[in-house]
Amino acid sequence: MRDEVTEEQAEAQEGEDDAADGPAVPQEGEAGEHSGAGHGEPDKSAKQTEEEPKPSRAEVSNYEIVEHWFKIAAERLELPDDVAAVFRSSYREVQVQIPVRLSDDKIHVFSGYRVQHNGARGPYKGGIRFHPEVDLDEVRALAELMTWKTAIVNIPYGGAKGGVNCDPSKLETKEVQSIARSFMDKIEKVLGPQRDIPAPDVGTNAQVMAWLMDEYGKLHGHTPASVTGKPIALEGSYGREAATGRGVVQVFTEAASEIDLDPGDATFVMQGFGNVGGWAARLMQELGAKMVGVADAHGAVASKEGIDAEKLAAHVRDGGKVSEFDSGADEISPDDLVALECDVFIPAALGGMLHADNADRMQCRMVVEGANSPTTPRADEILNDKGVRIVPDVLANAGGVVVSYFEWVQNLQHFRWSEDEVNEKLGEIMRRAFRQVAERAEENGTPMRPAAYELGIERVVEAASTRGYI
Ligand code: NAD
Repeated sequence: MRDEVTEEQAEAQEGEDDAADGPAVPQEGEAGEHSGAGHGEPDKSAKQTEEEPKPSRAEVSNYEIVEHWFKIAAERLELPDDVAAVFRSSYREVQVQIPVRLSDDKIHVFSGYRVQHNGARGPYKGGIRFHPEVDLDEVRALAELMTWKTAIVNIPYGGAKGGVNCDPSKLETKEVQSIARSFMDKIEKVLGPQRDIPAPDVGTNAQVMAWLMDEYGKLHGHTPASVTGKPIALEGSYGREAATGRGVVQVFTEAASEIDLDPGDATFVMQGFGNVGGWAARLMQELGAKMVGVADAHGAVASKEGIDAEKLAAHVRDGGKVSEFDSGADEISPDDLVALECDVFIPAALGGMLHADNADRMQCRMVVEGANSPTTPRADEILNDKGVRIVPDVLANAGGVVVSYFEWVQNLQHFRWSEDEVNEKLGEIMRRAFRQVAERAEENGTPMRPAAYELGIERVVEAASTRGYI
């Protein structure tokens, strides 16, 4: 799967070293310079399950996507090459071996990663992903994204990300627990409440955070501020679980008013129905919006009459798949989900799902990115040309890290805020960030994504230079 390039883009690629040509749109299918670097041998011995139809994904890597947007913003900000080089690479990258004896009584070796991209604005902050496609390249990209994201919403953190190359859907709970604890044992030296604070991401949840905190506590004493996204029973914050989805809906509401769309009349499609998608869908429904299509990793369904997000969430909580939900909706091919007519398409699964080969089929007025890097640069260009408004990941899905920040503040004070207080403060921050990015986009005459990167990078560069780091 490759993007078709225009002549102008081809020229830009030829003159890649010439800043005046602007950065080329990365070609989907081309390996990036970091691709595969440090990629640990994934565990191949896990049980196999039946193959299910999966929507196509871009071959352009998350790293190439983030790098593309960084390059454009760095050029606009006229960052000298030597300064830009500091922010194009990570501060620290840790790769560890996690040998765990599984229930088949064999030792399986998993690869774990923690990448700290930049800590100029505060302790490193970022989720931990358990997924079979995790590799250093992906974690590196997601860590960099966190640096810009925390700066865009203006909370005092740097950016980090972690992950373990494993498939939790094929593991028993006690096996996931062993992997989580062993991973913490191997990386705890670079973590801590004033150093680097993990949180949940794809394939991890509050329970995994509880194990991570407990393991950290065995070595350092009870330290709730060492991990966020914890269960309420273990000093988690009210509102954290729903926070990313809530933030998505808060920025959607702001963006809707700019295109004269009444959020209560909107139709939406949700790609991914896990933490982010499940909460965003329920909160959209609370506004009165109607979900006309939804997918998870196992399949997709559509209904013009609407699919009840609340009932679907209960079905999924009980272990059900989206395609097995008995709602009268029609099962559709996961590839056709993107082509459903709707006001808002919300990608809330993995990176690279909106790409050169499917962006043109999209029939929405707006994309609000719940997932990280769901849209390739080429798809972004196609959607912009079609007049689709995009609220980018670095802004749209920042609600989770904002409430993680609230959780950390509460933990440091051993004091708990009410859920209303959390949601209200989250709304203030998300709306402020939306306004600032929208204003910058208006000033520059660009879409929101380049404006958001510019704002984030500018703040990080200022902090690094004021510190004397650069
Ligand atoms: P999750 O594991 O809870 O849910 C992921 C969902 O995506 C599941 O429903 C899964 O079935 C679905 N999915 C996986 N592959 C799919 C495919 N090929 N097609 C359709 N659906 C597919 O993960 P999450 O925490 O909800 O994270 C989702 C996205 O949001 C990720 O990109 C993550 O990095 C990003 N994100 C999460 C948070 C957070 O607080 N959890 C914060 C910011 C960004």
